[in-house]
Amino acid sequence: MNAVAPFDHHTLGQRILFGSGRASHHLRLAVDEAGAASPMVIAGSSDRAIADAVLADLPYAVRFDEVRPHVPSELAERARVVARKAGADLLVSIGGGSTTGLAKAVALTTGLPIVAVPTTYAGSEATNVWGLTEAARKTTGQDNRVVPSVVVYDAELTRTLPRELSIASACNALAHCIDSLWAPRADPITTALATEAMTALVRALPDLAEHPDSLAGRERALYGAYLAAVVFAGAGSGLHHKICHVLGGRFDLPHAQTHAVVLPYVLAFNARCAPAAVSRIADALNTSDPVSGLRDLLESVGAPHALQTLGMPQEGVTESTDLILPLVPESNPRSVTRHDLAELLDSAWSGKSPS
Ligand code: NAD
Repeated sequence: MNAVAPFDHHTLGQRILFGSGRASHHLRLAVDEAGAASPMVIAGSSDRAIADAVLADLPYAVRFDEVRPHVPSELAERARVVARKAGADLLVSIGGGSTTGLAKAVALTTGLPIVAVPTTYAGSEATNVWGLTEAARKTTGQDNRVVPSVVVYDAELTRTLPRELSIASACNALAHCIDSLWAPRADPITTALATEAMTALVRALPDLAEHPDSLAGRERALYGAYLAAVVFAGAGSGLHHKICHVLGGRFDLPHAQTHAVVLPYVLAFNARCAPAAVSRIADALNTSDPVSGLRDLLESVGAPHALQTLGMPQEGVTESTDLILPLVPESNPRSVTRHDLAELLDSAWSGKSPS
């Protein structure tokens, strides 16, 4: 038996500039080093103040401020036309996963490089996954052209995130880590990074909830979120991500909050068949029982805990069971029957304690 089993790991090439209060400086550096003369800035109108502060006096060719969740195809097409007309030679995205997602959609067809300045813990900036929505159907794919060449992380930019979104977004990052442990391309590298990321995020969550002014908590969350995204890019989507993808697309549920609700149910379901994963999660949570440890942590920080409160109708449980069942990854440590999945979704819908 091998001490380390053979594996095939892809590392995405990008530069990470991390530093609180340094976003403007780092963005200028990235744009200068790219030799860009005509950047196109993508930042939603609701994130205008953050974008203005980060851009400072950076010259740009054009600014695009229409950002919507799940990147509607027609919006992506409009942004591509604006980029072409302005002769853009670089995309600068400032915002959460929806903003990064729009920049990725432009890069997908234009090949323009992206400098990403994330303002949430979603992590899209560190993956090669793009998503586009057409007629209420979200399509995703992987393409290295959409990987931002530089990511500028500045925890100061997350100060304005509402507390509830801050917590849900950090839970989204935690979900990347936990789900990666049984995801299809999990390997020793993704597992090691997931372990470090979980530790950072578990420490950050109480700070985000109780000390929202603490920069240390926000820095840990951002560091953990970056690692979590690298892990997600490497390991791929496990059962948890398949469930959230279907629910989000079908019922237009808020992304981060959906992840926060579903995560403890997937962990509770898989736990007894995934001893190695459970041991790592238990270490990160500093508990012998990670199922109740995660539940207690999420409860203590006030994370959302029922899909019904996010707007999912109860009839949606049966429909989603049908949609998710064929997508269950073969790598899942426990086989999943229709009954299991319906029960998991029903519990997550009502907010019944995961056990
Ligand atoms: P989001 O980008 O939709 O932002 C949510 C809300 O928070 C918006 O109203 C936004 O204006 C606001 N906001 C963002 N930053 C803020 C700040 N610092 N202060 C105040 N308000 C702020 O949500 P998200 O959770 O960051 O991203 C979700 C999207 O990202 C989903 O579409 C999801 O599919 C995608 N995503 C993609 C990947 C990938 O690898 N491709 C990974 C994770 C998430």
